[in-house]
Amino acid sequence: MSFNLDNLLRDNIKKLVPYSSARDEFKGEASVLLDANENAFGSPLDHHYNRYPDPLQHQVKEKLATIKGVPADHIFLGNGSDEAIDILYRAFCKPGVDNVILVPPTYGMYEVSANINDVQIRKVNLTADYQLDLDGIAEALDMHTKMIFICSPNNPTGNSIDRKDIETILTHFKGLVVIDEAYINFSKQRSFTQELTEYPNLVILQTLSKAWGLAALRLGMAFASKAIIQVFNKIKPPYNINQATQDLVLKALENVDTVNSWIQQTVAERELLIQELSAIAQIAHITPSDANFILAKLEEPRELYNFLVNQGIIVRDRSKVELCEGCLRITVGTTEDNRKLIEAIKQFYS
Ligand SMILES: *Cc1c(COP(=O)(O)O)cnc(C)c1O
Repeated sequence: MSFNLDNLLRDNIKKLVPYSSARDEFKGEASVLLDANENAFGSPLDHHYNRYPDPLQHQVKEKLATIKGVPADHIFLGNGSDEAIDILYRAFCKPGVDNVILVPPTYGMYEVSANINDVQIRKVNLTADYQLDLDGIAEALDMHTKMIFICSPNNPTGNSIDRKDIETILTHFKGLVVIDEAYINFSKQRSFTQELTEYPNLVILQTLSKAWGLAALRLGMAFASKAIIQVFNKIKPPYNINQATQDLVLKALENVDTVNSWIQQTVAERELLIQELSAIAQIAHITPSDANFILAKLEEPRELYNFLVNQGIIVRDRSKVELCEGCLRITVGTTEDNRKLIEAIKQFYS
């Protein structure tokens, strides 16, 4: 049986008549807009925030299309990646019936969103070197498995998942394969965006929250077939990306060079950090990272965490997470941040 989007969709979503907003029903230019119950006098700010924003964010998508090499009608924009994740569950997973495969240790939101939507989770742990257990995944699947979430580079481990293994799943699994590329800008691996034409079951998530330095604006992206993007658009709240975010993102997207230079600096700082931390005897292991953070296995993780907090340095304690036992996750900071961190760690162990 080949991939069939209609078979994957929930019946209620197939039948859904989406909300039709004022800006859906009239899209042109007009001098007198009396169709959306907006305040015709203006907004208390110096922008036209009295008007509802473009529901489909055409300008932002056109700009992203040129940067990402993905046509605008293959792009969905969400209020953070988390909105895209939630919509995937609501579109494809029937509560109490369908299930999804998660491959821990990985990003926590896939599980939370499943729980919110009352969707069963089947966990197939990554291997000891944080790669996919393909046999385990094949065993865990059944006819109600609608999606597999793969985060690459993976959070919290930092490594990329083998491309060949992801391709194997894309070829053989008849549900959706969601590849979360939140950290792809820092990776030696190339994005799966150029593979969209090849795999109708591929959904790629990216975000402006990490490399682009726009976490506060909440803009997540999903790239997929036109048919899947249409499903997203049918379900999403009509005006899910506000005008201020659309304006600011358009402006920010002019600064590709600055962002690329930050990415280079981050990667260079990451390698320096790994080098310096590896020289500390109490740090047993650092997972090779393709992201803007590292996962370090070390002695007395909780005590070190508390010591760092007292010095005003906050890292993430992952030491109780299965397969991350004894590990702290550390984001790569500025040269100055990293110097303070290394000094504090040395002080703790001395
Ligand atoms: C940070 C992160 C995101 C980004 O989420 P936003 O809601 O877009 O800020 C998505 N996936 C992973 C794995 C992350 O670590």
